[in-house]
Amino acid sequence: MSTLEAKGNWIGGAWRPSSSGEVREVRNPSNVDEVVGVVAWSTPADVAAAVESAEKAFRSWKNMPAPSRARILSKAADILAGRLEEVARLLSREQGKPIGEARGEVQRGVDLLHYYAGEGWRSLGHVIPSAAPGALMFTVREPLGVVGVITPWNFPVAIPLWKSCPALIFGNTVVLKPAADAPLTALAIASVFEEAGMPPGVFNVVTGPGSQLGDALIQHEAVKAVTFTGSNAVGAHIARQAAARGIKYQLEMGGKNAAIVLADADLDHAADVVISGAMRFAGQKCTATSRAIVERGVLDAFTEKVVERARRIAVRPATDEEAYLGPVVNEAQRQKVLEYIELGKAGEGKLAAGGGIPEGDLYARGFFVEPTVFVDVRPDARIAQEEIFGPVLSLIPADSPEQAIEIANGVKYGLSASLFTNDLTRAMQYIRDIEVGMVRVNAETAGVEFQAPFGGYKASSSYSREQGRAAIEFFTQVKTVTIAPAGGC
Ligand code: NAP
Ligand code: MG
Repeated sequence: MSTLEAKGNWIGGAWRPSSSGEVREVRNPSNVDEVVGVVAWSTPADVAAAVESAEKAFRSWKNMPAPSRARILSKAADILAGRLEEVARLLSREQGKPIGEARGEVQRGVDLLHYYAGEGWRSLGHVIPSAAPGALMFTVREPLGVVGVITPWNFPVAIPLWKSCPALIFGNTVVLKPAADAPLTALAIASVFEEAGMPPGVFNVVTGPGSQLGDALIQHEAVKAVTFTGSNAVGAHIARQAAARGIKYQLEMGGKNAAIVLADADLDHAADVVISGAMRFAGQKCTATSRAIVERGVLDAFTEKVVERARRIAVRPATDEEAYLGPVVNEAQRQKVLEYIELGKAGEGKLAAGGGIPEGDLYARGFFVEPTVFVDVRPDARIAQEEIFGPVLSLIPADSPEQAIEIANGVKYGLSASLFTNDLTRAMQYIRDIEVGMVRVNAETAGVEFQAPFGGYKASSSYSREQGRAAIEFFTQVKTVTIAPAGGC
């Protein structure tokens, strides 16, 4: 048994088993015979214990000078940097992210810790001219209290940290409920904070079933805000509960991101970037490229380049240094991806690459799917409308740049989009007309940087933004202060 297996939940500065005593195995999606670890399968009572610890820790954490909180985050950054390889391997084994990308994600976690440590040293308010003689009027930003953090499995280091770090640096305390498919990585983060000397109760992790623990977290009266990344169905459920309780909520959800390729684009560059956006980490990024909308004049040439690249992709177990495409996260996810592939084959498109499960012993015990490309896909086909979250790319022809933007906008989501062109006027039109939160030109739909605001339009987000300085808006509330001279001046 690994040390993590014995640890259970991280609550109030101690490792505690589930109150029911139940545990669950976590298996490697590249090879289901490998048990990566065992975690607590917790109950609402464990969530309550975590929230109570966080509530107890709140006042002294809030009142600690922000630069002192910053030092703890900086220390955590250094510790995580020292444990980069260990955490990356754990992530790769528990969740199937190719090891190269897993290292990149842990490095991103280190950078996030440094970045938000920096926020502890920056100003957090404004001085506003008062109309009253001699008065000083200013704003301060204060923490909300206990924040519930509910995260998906696809970025189990980056997402918990990009939510928890701003929550913590602005003086909130945190209860994290990580995804059931990636709990070990979240516990590794807790152990980094433990080593960094985070005071007990400031950061807590409870592992177990989202459907029960999520409700227990959002319903607890001490929880003042909930930040969520995951599916639209769960997001809507969380929003209803948060609204009923009158607490703050923030949702980051699905995407159906398009790359538009105009006739003047550098097609080799566009093909490289589109394939990377569609296929890396098996398309399981909310910002993955899942549609390429291509001007007819270059459709054949672009299709050839994309298909040729898709066929060359190295599909490997995630910890293999060669892996470009690993498995999808679990059997249910693979079934869902294969069902979409069947829709494509049944007439929604023409299959140009992949289309099934790769053959060979290497793939026999994992949830692998071939990198799959469909061409001639109608914009209203289900594979062109619904989030697949797998290594599946649909090529959609367009008659003009304007039509390409219309097709790109013709989905319920609005997270990220790319345009490939060298025409500045076309790029400006696209920047104006595209309905997404993250607009990219000659760059991948995925791989956006954490120091800038992150979030989507339409069904992709709840209008708030995460990351960068934008995180201040969600994780703080504003107090307006006026100090008038006693007796006038
Ligand atoms: P999910 O099923 O919505 O799960 C997300 C989290 O919510 C998990 O921790 C889950 O716990 C928990 N949960 C499940 N039911 C809940 C409930 N009734 N109340 C409260 N919490 C509950 O999403 P997923 O399958 O893990 O992740 C894939 C989705 O995330 C995709 O739609 C993807 O687009 C989206 N995503 C969006 C972004 C973004 O920033 N926009 C980034 C990454 C992923 P369990 O794991 O225990 O069920
Ligand atoms: Mg789920």
